[in-house]
Amino acid sequence: MAKGDGRRVVVKIGTGVLTRGVGELDTDKMSAICYQIADAKSRGCEVILVSSGAVGLGMGKLGLKSRPKQISSVQKCAAVGQGILIETWADLFEPHGITVAQLLITRDDVDSLTRHKAMRDLLNDLLEDGILPIINENDSVSAAELNIKFGDNDVLSSLVATLSKADSLMILSTAPGLIDMKGTGKVIPLVEKVTPEVRAMACGTTSATAVGGMITKIKAAEIATSSGCDVFIASGSEQRVIGRILDGESVGTRFAASKKSKSSKKRWLAHFGRTIGRISVDEGAEKALREKGSSLLPAGVKGVWNNFSKGDLVEIVNLDKNYVIARGIAEMGSEEIEKILSSNCAAKKCGHKDVVVHRDHLALV
Ligand code: GLU
Repeated sequence: MAKGDGRRVVVKIGTGVLTRGVGELDTDKMSAICYQIADAKSRGCEVILVSSGAVGLGMGKLGLKSRPKQISSVQKCAAVGQGILIETWADLFEPHGITVAQLLITRDDVDSLTRHKAMRDLLNDLLEDGILPIINENDSVSAAELNIKFGDNDVLSSLVATLSKADSLMILSTAPGLIDMKGTGKVIPLVEKVTPEVRAMACGTTSATAVGGMITKIKAAEIATSSGCDVFIASGSEQRVIGRILDGESVGTRFAASKKSKSSKKRWLAHFGRTIGRISVDEGAEKALREKGSSLLPAGVKGVWNNFSKGDLVEIVNLDKNYVIARGIAEMGSEEIEKILSSNCAAKKCGHKDVVVHRDHLALV
């Protein structure tokens, strides 16, 4: 049997691959992608497609040469372009006998635990019936101001991969992979771990229609690999790129999946639910969380930000170094924690038994 059987794969295609110039579809390239997805499905892979292009196509239809600044104009372009996009995909997949299903989502749809589960069930259902889900952000209603925006489809695709427990995520754009800016100047074939050096190699986009660039691709790689998914960044114009990746050929850059796979609940805690407050901790607590998988106790807490109650989702941060260590459900509210911190009893130090965030409801990010 060919390699790839049974694997669940999320393929993300950037606007630059689907279009030539602003807003003109490149149906030859889209057809080539359809062939490759049909081939992956015939090998037994379950495929989910995340397709950009709505805004770019709308821009073309409305005669705009560059991405509008006003959010309402972007929403208008997306509303015009999304129909063209899905209709074209549906027509091009038809000769392969593949039925497509359109899912337009906002950040809210995956952040809420109930809707998150509903979406996972729907994806499983569609895949079981051999239907190809085609996902895009619902750009005509989502807005950064409403705080329900993914912002870009790189991050969206990594969250879809995480939510659907995909084995691989292929981010196919005009970029051939992650270029080693400081060294060889060539594509780096393998990244074992996303380090600050790796992040420093990324830069934004200069395209008129795309939004992501390498920065968002690396962010996406960090999210999906931490959930046990291999991530590939490669050129969507490369011949048989999907099949070659499935064959294990080195194409573009592979970001290796972390060995420690998280349960669905911990994936949701780590990447989805919206946090209400922040708790900063000292280095000892950080070590205990990371190395021993301990619960967070009052003794390790340095401070709290924003009012939150017991049961709210909070971020646990290293404030000095300015990064998030973990996310979890608070076992006590901010007021109670502040009381402990300011009390001289040093409940902090003298054996306070209460837990601030329990290990079962905490996930490292
Ligand atoms: N959702 C946007 C669109 O369909 C694209 C966002 C992205 O490419 O990251 O135009």
